[in-house]
Amino acid sequence: MEVTAQSVWNNCLSFIKDNIQPQAYKTWFEPITAVKLTDNALSIQVPSKFFYEWLEEHYVKILKVALNKELGERAKLVYVIKMENTYGNKQPFTERIPSSNRGAVKSQNVDIPLKNKNPELKNPFVIPGIRNVKIESQLNPNYSFDNFLEGDSNRLARNAGLAVANKPGGTSFNPLLIFGGVGLGKTHLAHAIGIDIKDKYPEKTVLYISAEKFTQQYIDSVKKNNRNDFIHFYQIIDVLIIDDVQFLSGKSGTQDVFFHIFNHLHQNGKQVILTSDKAPVDMQDIEQRLLSRFKWGLSAELQSPDFETRVSILKNKLYRDGVEMPDDIIEYVAKHIKINVRELEGAIISLIAQSSFNKKEITISLAKEIVEKFVKNTKREVSIDYIQKVVSDYFQMDVSTLQSKTRKRHIVQARQLAMFFAKKFTKASLASIGSQIGKRDHATVLHACKTVDNLSSTDKQFRKYVEDISKKLAL
Ligand code: ADP
Ligand code: MG
Repeated sequence: MEVTAQSVWNNCLSFIKDNIQPQAYKTWFEPITAVKLTDNALSIQVPSKFFYEWLEEHYVKILKVALNKELGERAKLVYVIKMENTYGNKQPFTERIPSSNRGAVKSQNVDIPLKNKNPELKNPFVIPGIRNVKIESQLNPNYSFDNFLEGDSNRLARNAGLAVANKPGGTSFNPLLIFGGVGLGKTHLAHAIGIDIKDKYPEKTVLYISAEKFTQQYIDSVKKNNRNDFIHFYQIIDVLIIDDVQFLSGKSGTQDVFFHIFNHLHQNGKQVILTSDKAPVDMQDIEQRLLSRFKWGLSAELQSPDFETRVSILKNKLYRDGVEMPDDIIEYVAKHIKINVRELEGAIISLIAQSSFNKKEITISLAKEIVEKFVKNTKREVSIDYIQKVVSDYFQMDVSTLQSKTRKRHIVQARQLAMFFAKKFTKASLASIGSQIGKRDHATVLHACKTVDNLSSTDKQFRKYVEDISKKLAL
């Protein structure tokens, strides 16, 4: 078989694919094309300089291994950086219906003029009557890149954000979709990008808006019969940041209008930045055509920060607030509050407040008290259904088996454990627990709880069951 740039690269790809995360593969390797092969040098084309830098920093080892396997020890890799900012010249793929035909077109989807013919700009942010054509960015200066600490959990998203800020509309990250759970820094990062762009390109119009507010403005514009003004306003933005797009789910009118605004901006080389609490694949009640647009650029996830990052976030916060705190206390808080940054900050703020209001010294025991409150309040209440599911999974049986009338010993034990944990982890009464776990009465549940207590102090194997399941239930 003939060895071509393509065939060499394909072999490299299949090796790389097996060795890295699917999301990373999709982001960093799928967009690459092999362009040339000369002797021992393979040239690959990457979409931007940032892309090349990222590959060099994170994937150079695996690239080397893969290429050595194909072309031997003397293999070389050459990057070709594709001309950036090609978006501006892209041929629009939607057509504007000439105005003479408009009357014949029923669908409002196509009835969106792409240019603002009305010179007076109606700005939905402005209270009617007060003229103000300057568009305020609505950015919070505290949410800067400087204050957004980098860690493994956010490296991709943060760096992609920086790349976008350096060249808004000019990278392949358009749109840039930042997604992740609550309190992980989506809003902060979205603002940071906007602030940085404003710094570097003061002439650009940057606008931050929550999807909720956007929806409200749209509804208002329909009520006031100036839907087109609303659309025109958004079409002149250079960098549009929409926070929490999951809010658009189920709102087809707003999705429709956003779809058209998005297309217009994208075709004109404008940057769109979105945040969401879910990955595009998990978004529900969002139209397919919009979802597919979301996937055009880069979806970058924010994950829960690791311990080191939590410590540096706390230290940075304390430093900015001018508060000193012993390292062991900072580490205690960082060790116990793991799920999100908002809670981490909340705990440290109450710690500072407690100590200054009550003139208490900040000690480990005060930290412990406060952390416990935080952890307890945020611990989600487990349901009896969930307990039954966890217990039956643990014993590899169906929930229906666990609930059945059988007297087989291992099934009886599983059922008793489910009852025991339901009593321990929920506020449900014995009667209610019994009725939900196989329609038993309250006496059976009481008996189950006693049996589990007894067995776990006499039977080592049984105690292990209790411990294992406890761990699975304690989130
Ligand atoms: P989300 O929008 O994802 O719910 P936010 O952006 O509101 O989260 O972040 C919650 C809080 O955590 C904010 O006060 C933010 O400044 C802070 N935060 C999140 N990530 C970081 C980080 N990497 N460095 C510093 N502060 C952070
Ligand atoms: Mg947010």
